[in-house]
Amino acid sequence: MLSTEEKARYARHFSLSQVGLEGQERLKNSSVLCIGAGGLGSPSSLYLAAAGIGRIGIVDPDVVELSNLQRQILHGQSTLGISKLDSAEARINEINPHVKVEKHACHFTSENALTIAADYDIIIDGTDNFPTRYLSNDVAFFLKKPNIYASIFRFEGQLSVFAPHLGGPCYRCMLPEPPDPGSVPSCAEAGVLGVLPGILGSLQAMEAIKLILGAGTPPLGRLIHYDALSTAFREFQLRRDPECPLCGENPSVTQLIDYQAFCGTPECQVTTPTGPGEISVEQLQEKLNTGFGGILIDVRETWEHEVANIDTARLVPLATFPSMLDELKTMGVDTEILILCKSGMRSARAVEFLFQQGFTNTHNVVGGIDAWHRL
Ligand SMILES: [Zn+2]
Repeated sequence: MLSTEEKARYARHFSLSQVGLEGQERLKNSSVLCIGAGGLGSPSSLYLAAAGIGRIGIVDPDVVELSNLQRQILHGQSTLGISKLDSAEARINEINPHVKVEKHACHFTSENALTIAADYDIIIDGTDNFPTRYLSNDVAFFLKKPNIYASIFRFEGQLSVFAPHLGGPCYRCMLPEPPDPGSVPSCAEAGVLGVLPGILGSLQAMEAIKLILGAGTPPLGRLIHYDALSTAFREFQLRRDPECPLCGENPSVTQLIDYQAFCGTPECQVTTPTGPGEISVEQLQEKLNTGFGGILIDVRETWEHEVANIDTARLVPLATFPSMLDELKTMGVDTEILILCKSGMRSARAVEFLFQQGFTNTHNVVGGIDAWHRL
């Protein structure tokens, strides 16, 4: 039963026939799991809280950093340096003290995902990486719960509700294979305008509320694409794939798998050379300390270089790297060329490019500037 205070709080909902007192009670008795308290999880959990969802679970192991505040409106100046979960709980309870916030201070993994998600009605995928996105999809499928998906890239975003148990396709029907690791830049590399996750995360909250109320039509089998620069929403039909390895007729994925391996991303950042054409940051340091005669190239973006750099490295962002080819050729194909980036992904592509061009003494600095700073 709603208290007098709650009835006053939710007054604007009651004249909506899709909500009313009964719908409000339903919201109060419902629970939503937000995977991530970042750009998407911020607006979705805030609006779910304000709307009166009874229980909100949040999974996030991170601490609030200054660069989060440009988009992660759950957090603020006063919560810099503390856990995102504590920050989120304080903010949510400031908006609505009737909401119970459940804090899962960990990564969402194959080991804990089923146990955590089993306790909630709906999953909101607020992740920013492919392994967790596939995991969120598969967990939702096995538990027969809707998975509200959104993702963002620069000025574009997309949204869908994956729920094979309600008749729609799953994320794997749309994207059976993850893209090559390194081929899709992360938000940190590609940039994101802070309002964009605000819009997509708000759409996720709306879809969760609609599902709980049984109101309207969820975007099952529909991918909603938003282009912020042209202010255009477009819609693509998604079909359930009978060959889908998860929700198809002869599934090969019958339990949670190793998603890091599936997506080709190493579980821990590799910082030890594993093959030809690779050197460690320790070896790089040794070379720089003993009179390095080759050339060290940093293929990150200019702004990344401004945040942190090795002063003897020459900045040539990956996109402009081929324009340097003639200059490198005049130095000779056996010149020692060391290439680094943030974590070693982009630089590996530059090294591969040089190998194809006939260079013989080119090495990727494994682990990149991140590993350099851990020296
Ligand atoms: Zn599927």
